[in-house]
Amino acid sequence: MNIKELDKKYVASTYGRFDIEIVKGKGSLLYDENGKEYIDLTSGIGVNIFGVCDEKICEAIENQAKTLTHISNLFYTKPCAELARMLCEKTGMSKVFFSNSGAEANECAIKIARKYAQSKKGKDYFNIITLENSFHGRTLTTLSATGQESFHTLYTPLTEGFISTKANDLDSFLSLAKNTKCAGIMLETVQGEGGVNVLDFDFVKGVEKYAKENDVILIIDEVQTGNGRTGKLYSYMNYDITPDVVSTAKGLAGGLPLGATLMSQKVEDVFNFGDHGSTFGGNPVCCASALSVLSRIDDNLLQDVNKKSEYIFSQLENANGVESISGKGLMLGIKVKQDAKRTIKRLQEKGVLCLTAKDKVRLLPPLNIEFSLLQKAVEIIKDTLKEEL
Ligand SMILES: *Cc1c(COP(=O)(O)O)cnc(C)c1O
Repeated sequence: MNIKELDKKYVASTYGRFDIEIVKGKGSLLYDENGKEYIDLTSGIGVNIFGVCDEKICEAIENQAKTLTHISNLFYTKPCAELARMLCEKTGMSKVFFSNSGAEANECAIKIARKYAQSKKGKDYFNIITLENSFHGRTLTTLSATGQESFHTLYTPLTEGFISTKANDLDSFLSLAKNTKCAGIMLETVQGEGGVNVLDFDFVKGVEKYAKENDVILIIDEVQTGNGRTGKLYSYMNYDITPDVVSTAKGLAGGLPLGATLMSQKVEDVFNFGDHGSTFGGNPVCCASALSVLSRIDDNLLQDVNKKSEYIFSQLENANGVESISGKGLMLGIKVKQDAKRTIKRLQEKGVLCLTAKDKVRLLPPLNIEFSLLQKAVEIIKDTLKEEL
């Protein structure tokens, strides 16, 4: 059997895979089983911030793997402590809990909000308000938090206490919040899986104001938007707000599994010994990789992200076949006149890999993609959108 047949026979059929086997890559170029080259505008769904097989990341991983791959959270390790310090210094947050994925980072955030509220206000204060069209993960609790019914079907009963409200509708949010015993509010400032929807500045500010005045924990899910993706280190920094909890994962370790839940001073002492844990969380190799990634997300890189973003907007905004573009930084959704799924299939044939989000073509290229490759990919996209599919 070839790899595709093996996979179909033995791997759980949860993914509608493309008919492509990726065997290797370098930077923003990927190669399939036939040696065909692709420009990668997916970065493993926002994970490979510096592309694949980045030399500095490989070196950090290799050095750490040869020193200590895993011990356990019963011991202190250097990469974990240093990464926590770097995350706090770069954000002004106070403490970090490490896990292995976005869903886990959000689970941790939800536990913090609930424990804070229940110990302060009473056990009725367990509700978390989220937004319609949000995506927060695949565990039963983060699915409950996800404001999309289609994900819930046949997995009930879900975790209680999640209510979703319409994004960018502050009045609806406020009337819901006032009538709900709230522990927290959780949102993505740019909804990723929900269709690359950018939240309005005033909405986010209004939600923050309510949260602060009512001592409700504001959780920002930066799993996809974080780590430079939207042109700031974290996307909430586009909104002039101070969250109580920030969760992140995807790009954090540049290709290795790592989740982080950042806690502000207000909640840094919510957890005591034994309240939460993870066997692999804060793994030395993943943390060493993240240290390499995070130390390189500086003003230069972020400026470059914004420049590339402007370039894509300017080229595609009024292009044939484009209805509109949404997004921030290098997290973009193109509403195309064609069927988005057919468009990305056609782009694959021409050697460009893109994603979809709802009915949009979604671009999440590596942040350091060479400008010439980006140009080439954008030209191919323009040509393809002109075609009658
Ligand atoms: C991908 C994603 C998650 C889930 O992350 P996993 O690592 O797949 O568990 C949660 N929130 C957002 C915003 C995401 O984009």
